Order: sequence, then C-alpha cells, then structure tokens
Amino acid sequence: MSVSTFYLRGVCTMARKITVSVDHDVCVGNAMCVTIATKAFELNDDRQAAPANPDGDTEELVLEAAENCPVAAITVTDGDTGEQLFP
Ligand code: SF4
Repeated sequence: MSVSTFYLRGVCTMARKITVSVDHDVCVGNAMCVTIATKAFELNDDRQAAPANPDGDTEELVLEAAENCPVAAITVTDGDTGEQLFP
C-alpha cells in the first residue's frame, strides 16, 4: 500500500490536509485516477497508481479520481480529523 498526505485546495477558501492511499493489492493499473487527477497520481514502475505531487490537484479532483477507480483501491481521509471521505 502506498500512502501520502496531500495539502490541497478545498471547495471553500480553507485548505485542508487530506491523506490518500492506494491499495496495491487491488489496483489493476488502468490509470483512471491518473487520467482524472493528472498531477496527484502517477503510475509506478509496476504500473500501479501512487500518490505523486502533493500540490498537484484539487481535493475535488482527487475525490473524483477515487470515485472512478473501478476496484475502489483509493481511500481518502481528512488528515486532521481522520474522517474517511471516500469510500
Ligand atoms: S484508478 Fe484504481 S485501479 Fe486504476 S490505476 Fe488508479 S488506483 Fe489503480
């Protein structure tokens, strides 16, 4: 599993810290997340997604990427409260 903490722009003016993880036990490497959140995710040498640029994309795009993962490999949580934002 690959885990990284992102600091992203939210919908409102306050930035909040979110944590993104990709479960490599289920990631099939179809690159949907990389297509949607082009900077926040990248494919590693094993052609599995990994968190990339922490400032790359908005929280909305990261959540959209997570929602469109066909195997629900991406988990997004609020880094401050621990609240699970997706799934
Ligand atoms: S969308 Fe899901 S299965 Fe596809 S590369 Fe990203 S994490 Fe892996």
